[in-house]
Amino acid sequence: MDYYEILGVDKNASKDEIKKAFRQMARKYHPDVNKAPDAADKFKEIGKAYETLSDDSKREVYDRYGEQGLQNAGYTSSFDMGDIDLSEIFSSFFGGGFGFSSGYEANPNAPQRGEDLRLDIEIDFLQACFGTEKEIKIRHLEPCETCNSTGVDKDAKDTVCPTCGGVGRVQKSTRTMLGSFTSVTTCPTCRGTGKNPKAYCKACKGVGAIEKEKKITIKIPHGIDHGSKMRVAHEGNAGRNGGRPGDLYVVVHVKKSKEFIRKAFDIYTELTITTPQAVIGDNIEIKTIHGKATVRIPMGSQNGDVITLKGEGIPYFGSDNHKGNHYVTLKVEVPKKLTAEEERLYRQLFNLTHKRDNGIFERIKTTTSK
Ligand SMILES: [Zn+2]
Ligand SMILES: [Zn+2]
Repeated sequence: MDYYEILGVDKNASKDEIKKAFRQMARKYHPDVNKAPDAADKFKEIGKAYETLSDDSKREVYDRYGEQGLQNAGYTSSFDMGDIDLSEIFSSFFGGGFGFSSGYEANPNAPQRGEDLRLDIEIDFLQACFGTEKEIKIRHLEPCETCNSTGVDKDAKDTVCPTCGGVGRVQKSTRTMLGSFTSVTTCPTCRGTGKNPKAYCKACKGVGAIEKEKKITIKIPHGIDHGSKMRVAHEGNAGRNGGRPGDLYVVVHVKKSKEFIRKAFDIYTELTITTPQAVIGDNIEIKTIHGKATVRIPMGSQNGDVITLKGEGIPYFGSDNHKGNHYVTLKVEVPKKLTAEEERLYRQLFNLTHKRDNGIFERIKTTTSK
């Protein structure tokens, strides 16, 4: 279904209108509020539509090429609602209490997945067109080898936190005029780990993981666009208590080109031609992202005419045999200064076209120079 229809907005809706519509729809279909069986699906659809339409570059691709175009442009990964994006989208609207994360884990010793990390990188315009390999440096938590990720010294005796008995949280009773209230808070002694601070592993100070710098080479595919997110599996932070590591998300920023304008997989440039070139036609060599190509200007070209160089655009993301086009917009230049010879010829042409004598030029000259 159309993203605009899903949010109930006009195709020309502003960013604010889209945001407003999204909030209303999201509140209506949020699974905590709406108990209809299809509410969750509807809610996902709304999120997906909003994610696309709130991002200028994604919206542009969607407007021109639809959902398939987004996939081709490499935007697929960020649509996966299983990713963290949900909380990003909703935290500001629902005060963060989305029902997913609830302060503390039931058991501090249960396996816990490591956090996902995000790294922003910048690549050149042509690197994005043709793909590249890039060495990146990341800092992430790796499992502590000294303690085998337990966070506890091998030789320590009393490894269990004496305050909470290993549970990681404590109950606190408060007496008030209305009675006594019990609240549960994170254990102040072990900060929720359930381990005795005296038994902490010296290498990782009880964390079970150590921050390390690492170099990784990532392959950036051709056709990737500004804002695309790439997932590098298992390069996030180490998990706790044997949990699996998180992933690394590399967000690609593409530098603008001075020569080319990119829209999805197409390239746009302008070409200034003279009036005789527009009238008579010509072959002109221009620069494309692939090198050089000849633009054939037909006789009688008009200012603003667009000439298509098929297949001279960007190789499609995820496809080896599809390329976009290069569109050349003609700008016909009318001369402001003429040589004597050119003026003579233009006057001749004028007389031929308008069947008038040369006397008019003298009159025009004297009136305009005053
Ligand atoms: Zn350790
Ligand atoms: Zn404790």
